[in-house]
Amino acid sequence: MTPPYFMDLQKWEALLREWYPQATLQLMYAEKPSNMPDLCDTERVISELGTCNMRGTVRVDVWKTLWVIGHGVLGIMGVLLFPQWDAAMVFLALTTLTVCAGHSVGMHRLLIHRSFETHRMIEYMLVWLGTCVGMAGPIGMIRTHDMRDWHQRQRMCPAHPAHRASLVRDAWWQLCCRYDLVHPPRFVLEQRVDQDRIYAWMERLWWLQNLPLGLLLFALGGWAWVLWGISLRIFVSLVGHWWIGHVAHRRGHQSWVVTGLPVQGFNVPRWSLVTFGENWHGNHHAFPYSARLGVEKGQLDPGFWLISTLQSLGLAWNVKMPGDEPDRPGLIRVENRACTGRACTGMVQPHDKHI
Ligand SMILES: [Zn+2]
Ligand SMILES: [Zn+2]
Repeated sequence: MTPPYFMDLQKWEALLREWYPQATLQLMYAEKPSNMPDLCDTERVISELGTCNMRGTVRVDVWKTLWVIGHGVLGIMGVLLFPQWDAAMVFLALTTLTVCAGHSVGMHRLLIHRSFETHRMIEYMLVWLGTCVGMAGPIGMIRTHDMRDWHQRQRMCPAHPAHRASLVRDAWWQLCCRYDLVHPPRFVLEQRVDQDRIYAWMERLWWLQNLPLGLLLFALGGWAWVLWGISLRIFVSLVGHWWIGHVAHRRGHQSWVVTGLPVQGFNVPRWSLVTFGENWHGNHHAFPYSARLGVEKGQLDPGFWLISTLQSLGLAWNVKMPGDEPDRPGLIRVENRACTGRACTGMVQPHDKHI
């Protein structure tokens, strides 16, 4: 005998999941009394007794919201009030410099993944450019990246770090909110970053790091250059970063799958020159330590071009490539193909390192 509709818990849960995925997950796991079993640690994120990766709340972050909307409004004002080619060129040049050399190479591939080594002063310069993107300071960036990575490595992942919400909701969550776990894991920063006074300074005043650049732009090109070169650039970089993260965890093509995980990385072809190689996110999930993200033939990777140039000048060394570290558990090669949904687990071939 089928129960009446109002008693069918599965239907209620499906309805709730549709409207508010996070609430469903909280309902499902609110009763778990202590440590979720077999949580997987990463280098910097360590589970403790009682750590739970599923119980958390998405909270509005007022400062983050004011920051992104404020720069958005100022940036759009810049475009409307000063529709000038010179200001547009300043925007393009500074976006390329800060997102490619700063965010992709300095913050992501160097500071977070240590995928190559360089002189300390060059490292500071690249990471400082990354701070000028306007997302967070060096330690904030490591924490955000590693917490998301830790979540995505567990057998279950909440909707926020999985980018599982719809486009609009995910934009709201990622750009204006933060995800607070009730029982978070311990975040342990390596000494070389934790004890570094330059990084501590960048971290404390990350939101002011654009000030010298802003003064220079004002002296050279007035308010037009400031609005295009600072506010519009920060707004476009933040929105672009969220968008590629959203798409690259939902659909695209994959050459490798990490089996057993609920969140997969996907490649987003044709966006190499805008994201400077960060669009090859499926490859990044497969080989997180690799300095090269566009690892297969025809995959353009401007961030890696910069690292190769530094290497050829003797300014970068120990540049890591796929195969230089042991495979992630569960990593398998799949045929190149477009995928939708969270994983393509079919069409398995033996892992082939000849790429
Ligand atoms: Zn990812
Ligand atoms: Zn990464």
